[in-house]
Order: sequence, then C-alpha cells, then structure tokens
Amino acid sequence: MQEPCAAMHDLHTHTLWSDGDLSPEALVGEAARAGVRVLAVTDHDTTQGIAAARAGADARGIVLVAGVEISVTWQGLNVHLVGLDIDVDNAALQTGLARLQTIRRDRARAIVEALARDGLGEARAALVRPGVVGRGHIADWLVANGHARHRAGAFKRFLARGASAYVPVTWASLEEGIAWIRAAGGCSVLAHPTRYDLSAGRLRQLIAGFAEAGGEALEVVSTGLQAGEIARLGRLAQHHRLKASLGSDYHKPLPWRSEPGHLPALPADCVPVWRDRARMQPA
Ligand code: AMP
Ligand code: MN
Ligand code: MN
Ligand code: MN
Repeated sequence: MQEPCAAMHDLHTHTLWSDGDLSPEALVGEAARAGVRVLAVTDHDTTQGIAAARAGADARGIVLVAGVEISVTWQGLNVHLVGLDIDVDNAALQTGLARLQTIRRDRARAIVEALARDGLGEARAALVRPGVVGRGHIADWLVANGHARHRAGAFKRFLARGASAYVPVTWASLEEGIAWIRAAGGCSVLAHPTRYDLSAGRLRQLIAGFAEAGGEALEVVSTGLQAGEIARLGRLAQHHRLKASLGSDYHKPLPWRSEPGHLPALPADCVPVWRDRARMQPA
C-alpha cells in the first residue's frame, strides 16, 4: 500500500525529455492518480516537456507549473537549481539552456569516445534519444548491455569523477542560473540540499552563497529525508530568509515508490514557495 499523500504540491519531477522514464502525459496521469493537485515538471536543462504536460494537466484538472532543473557549478561542485513558474518563452532563459544542452551533448560525445577507446564503441547508441542526454542514459546503456551490474557500478567504473570515461564539465555559474530563472519571471530553488555530500559547514556556505546571489527558496522536503533532516532544512531556510519548496524528484515508477507526490508537508513555520504565486495555487 502507498502512504497517503500529505502534500498537494509536487514541485520537482522529470520526464523522458531528460532522465525520467515517463512521457509528460503519463507523468501527469501518475501525479493526478496520486492526489497531486499542483505539479511542476522540472527536467534537466530543458523545458521541452512543458507544453505536453500542460495539455495533460488541463485535461485532468490539475495545475501545471512550468519548471526546469538547471545544472550549475559552484566552487567546483555540480549543484542543481530548480526554477519554478517560469516563462518558457523567455529568450535569456532559453539561450542559457541552449548553452547547457550543448555542453551536455559535447560531454556525452566525449564520454562515448572514451568508452570506444576501451572497446565499447557501441555505446554511441546511448546518444540517440529525443531529449537532453545525461550520464544516467549512458549508465543505463552500460547496464543493459552487461558492462555493469547496476547504475552505481557503471558510475563507479566508467562515469564518476576519477573513472575511466569521466569527462569534467563546467556548467552555468550559480549567478547565471539564478539570473536566467529571474529573467523568466520564475522562483529559484536550491534543489535537494542534502544530496551534495557536504559537511554542515559547507552546506551553510552553499545556502548562504545561493541566498546572497538572489536565490529565493530551499527545497526543504524531498524524497527520502528523515523528519529531523526536514526540520533542520526548514531552520536553515528561515535563517537565510529563503522560502521553502517540496518535490519528490520523481524519475520513474519504482517497486517501493510508484507515484509522485508521496511527501510529508512542509514544516508549519516555513514560507511555502507558492504563497504569492497565483499560478501555483490548487485549482
Ligand atoms: P549529469 O547531470 O548528466 O552529470 O548526471 C548526474 C546524475 O547522475 C545525478 O543527478 C544522479 O542521478 C546520477 N549520478 C551521479 N553520480 C552518480 C553515482 N556515483 N552513482 C549513481 N548515480 C549517479
Ligand atoms: Mn535526474
Ligand atoms: Mn538534481
Ligand atoms: Mn531532479
């Protein structure tokens, strides 16, 4: 049995236009069935799935928030910013995303060429897909073709920093990512703060740097966090005068968690990211 859905917002999800498994229409269907009433689609460095997601959401009576998850580099670290309630037609945003898509494509080509030098030339097939390409797609190809037992193994042996086909990249700066989201009228959220493997002190530095650069919100609730971690992130958000967001970071149906939206509510003393945003209210 699924747990009941405590949150009616899910503000961080993926479709097959980046590294999710579902089409935008299928994702919206899963979200609606799970009781989500306000859904943000936030693919990595692309907004291509938004129009189809919006059409699906309109048909089901749920609210679709246009979003994106932007790859930035902060002090050598790969950090993710979620942009919510963006105008997907904004030129500054799309010019920035086009740059990141080029970086992704060039990196993916360099990775498969490095794999080819190790005798895995067929890995070029992993590049042929409709949306943006990430290391996860190459990892999935390596697993599907018997070169690794699971994703983590494919990263460890081939794709992670220090592995045989690792290709370093520099994404946008933190300031650029925030500026693109702001230009598009959106709200910038520092995504999944506990997933960067940072010490408590470094995490505070990252959050402070994000707030100083004009970032607006912290993702306080995401999948897999313990109640104590959520409370700690809520306190950090308040300390840095950031609003609070929540999102599952849903990518695919999994045996133990098959739906978006299975999240606890935000701590009561946080300011929800949707408070002053008319397009982020439930219908
Ligand atoms: P990319 O944005 O293409 O560099 O891909 C980054 C994504 O790959 C992350 O969001 C994770 O989902 C996944 N990832 C990164 N490092 C690892 C790892 N060591 N093991 C498994 N997955 C990883
Ligand atoms: Mn992803
Ligand atoms: Mn992310
Ligand atoms: Mn994500």
